[in-house]
Amino acid sequence: MKVAVLAGDGIGPEIIAEAIKALRALDLGIEFEEALVGGAATDAHGDPLPPATLALCKAADAVLFGAVGGPKYDTLPRPQRPEQGLLRLRKELGLFANLRPALIYPELAAASTLKPEVVAGLDLLIVRELTGDIYFGQPRGIRTLDNGEREGFDTMRYSESEIRRIGHVAFKAARKRVKRVCSVDKANVLETTQLWREVMTELGRDYPDVELTHMYVDNAAMQLLRNPKQFDVLVTGNMFGDILSDEASMLTGSIGMLPSASLDANAKGLYEPIHGSAPDIAGKGIANPLATILSAAMMLRYTFNGEEAAARLERAVAKVLAQGLRTGDIAAAGEPTIGTRAMGDAVVNAL
Ligand code: NAD
Repeated sequence: MKVAVLAGDGIGPEIIAEAIKALRALDLGIEFEEALVGGAATDAHGDPLPPATLALCKAADAVLFGAVGGPKYDTLPRPQRPEQGLLRLRKELGLFANLRPALIYPELAAASTLKPEVVAGLDLLIVRELTGDIYFGQPRGIRTLDNGEREGFDTMRYSESEIRRIGHVAFKAARKRVKRVCSVDKANVLETTQLWREVMTELGRDYPDVELTHMYVDNAAMQLLRNPKQFDVLVTGNMFGDILSDEASMLTGSIGMLPSASLDANAKGLYEPIHGSAPDIAGKGIANPLATILSAAMMLRYTFNGEEAAARLERAVAKVLAQGLRTGDIAAAGEPTIGTRAMGDAVVNAL
């Protein structure tokens, strides 16, 4: 079991250190090897994904990723920007399936901006296609028209096979849960997603034990706020998934609690918290490491088939929350808080 560790920028190194500490405490014999990515790699090598980092990730079984980016890099030419390192890595590793659970811990139900009765008990999984859609479709660009006006354009594309493989991931995930898949599209307006709906419907016949429903993305955005507990697995394309998964993350109250997995066809994966590098709190030792620790648990479950160890780690996180330990982002007004390292230590103690 070899894990490439890419801490990245901002709070990345602080939160990754705690996840490694928790994984070591499980004593599973995992080997860790670190490499630079994002702004840190641009600073050192002028490239946010240097060849040595990519080679390490290709050779490893899984990648544990912190976060990349920062204001310092926002004015660089696009290829040198930290986010390009992550986008290229996803593409190079063929990580087409992004899994984002949104789970409410009972103790944190009050942290949501929604009423506790709307979110209490929430447990949904967003399955987002990650390597296609308008984010990668060609042609794209900004051109000057004959009349001298500039025009920006991008292309939304999905092939049948791309839709089919993300569909399989969603249906299989649903089989391990409540067996309901809601496929989100905009089939009334966009041909690409009309095909999406047709292919999902065909695929659904291979999973008669799973209930398949369809929803337009605008309605899904509304339903996530109105009654999020109606959902089990939501499957959607890259752009809709980008937006809906951020919306779903806020149902739980803190971006610092939410893990993610990005998988290839053979369960190799990149595991990362959904939040960014949080430059506003970087270096202060106050970032919440739990999203990264829960990402490590997903790594044990999906890449290393270690359901038991994954569940142990998740129970340890639930335990520290039940003990009342809070980093600033999940503390109620006036509640005492602890720092990144103390939270990591508490998880290790709970293990
Ligand atoms: P962000 O997620 O970094 O931060 C948003 C807010 O949430 C900030 O106030 C931050 O302090 C807080 N926050 C985030 N993670 C936290 C944690 N673990 N504990 C406590 N508080 C936390 O988003 P942003 O500010 O929009 O972006 C900052 C940088 O991160 C940008 O350069 C952006 O491009 C990059 N980014 C990277 C990724 C990634 O690496 N996958 C994802 C999103 C944003």
